[in-house]
Amino acid sequence: MIFQNSLAFAQQLDAQDELKHYREEFIFPQHEGKNVIYFTGNSLGLQPKRTKKFVDEVMNDWANHAVEGHFYAERPWWDYHERFAKPLSKIVGAKSSEVTVMNTLTVNLHLLMVSFYRPTSKRYKIICEEKAFPSDQYMFQSQVNFHGYKAEDAIVEIKRREGENNIRLEDILTKIDEVGDELALVLFGGVNYYTGQVFDMKTITEAGHKAGAVVGFDLAHAAGNIKLELHDWNVDFAAWCSYKYMNSGPGNASGCFVHEKHHFNNDLPRFAGWWGHNKERRFKMEPSFDPVHGADGWQISNLPILSLAPYLAAVEMFDEVGMDNLISKRNQITAYLEFILREIDKQVNSTFEIITPTNQEERACQLSVFFHGEGRPLFDYLMKNGVITDWREPNVIRFAPVPFYCSYEDMYRFGQILKQGILS
Ligand SMILES: *Cc1c(COP(=O)(O)O)cnc(C)c1O
Repeated sequence: MIFQNSLAFAQQLDAQDELKHYREEFIFPQHEGKNVIYFTGNSLGLQPKRTKKFVDEVMNDWANHAVEGHFYAERPWWDYHERFAKPLSKIVGAKSSEVTVMNTLTVNLHLLMVSFYRPTSKRYKIICEEKAFPSDQYMFQSQVNFHGYKAEDAIVEIKRREGENNIRLEDILTKIDEVGDELALVLFGGVNYYTGQVFDMKTITEAGHKAGAVVGFDLAHAAGNIKLELHDWNVDFAAWCSYKYMNSGPGNASGCFVHEKHHFNNDLPRFAGWWGHNKERRFKMEPSFDPVHGADGWQISNLPILSLAPYLAAVEMFDEVGMDNLISKRNQITAYLEFILREIDKQVNSTFEIITPTNQEERACQLSVFFHGEGRPLFDYLMKNGVITDWREPNVIRFAPVPFYCSYEDMYRFGQILKQGILS
């Protein structure tokens, strides 16, 4: 499609947008009486209007039923989490038994590493991406230290080539091959949080397995954003947070995937708790642990229902819309944002650089822009003028035009504000 940098054209795209009424389903912060232009759904998704109903329901059930709410609530609490299995499995491309909700993201990755990072004196190395999200880096370091290895030796980071912004798949594959029989685990992001680069998880998983390693993914920026086929790709395990693209609220519960091939392996070590115990016998309070044969078997505690309520509201919305529809709009609105950025760049003779891959297969709903020479004051200008973005050192602003609630008109209006910001 040939895009135009005009209000009329943007409004025409909005009029044709099949998801346009979903914008009304979200609550936008206001700036001078108007909705802000919200680009930070990759950090904290907006609140859906229906979420409050889900939370109120739990509050009312708690008030009216107290402990009996476990069984007599509108949605009983004892199996509340089971309502996630179907819709979540569609979002990440899994079987219902392969997904669960619990804890928070880094906690879950640690717990999954208890099962899936089992180093031996010969095979103990972890392959990950250079400049992974800091929490992941601390996790890798503390895990290898916990097992008695040195981070410098045991953690192998795949680096970008000199002068390049993104990691090449061929470099990942070569390194996996090289580390070979010393490789215990490949644990990569699905989408890099800084550049927005999408990794080829299918190929990485194949290569990791060929080297005899376990393969897992941190899907913080991937869940609810890209097409995932975790089961078919034969990924061993994965986890994601729900507060970014999944709109479940600040710091909210995580989701996990454990491939079915591991469900009956009772030799896998894990940190156990009563909620991972055989459901039929959970309340018999037996002394020995008999894990559920599924991702639920990794649960430890009974679930925080007040956290799950907004997550369930969010997951229902994904189920209504479907990932394929979200992804078609995502591709078009991201392409439109890219067009607007390039138009403004030409008009103001600026020199900013989009460091996210231009190839649609390698990017999703985020453009990271390196502002040579502009930087921080420009970011402050945008924020003051109702454009909510986020700043990353040294000079990068990330823009995520989330298809659920961003409009094409937002992209156009943003372009005008950006232009004024650079010229001012
Ligand atoms: C957002 C994010 C996290 C956050 O971890 P929490 O445990 O939810 O605080 C971790 N890893 C990646 C890659 C992220 O993008």
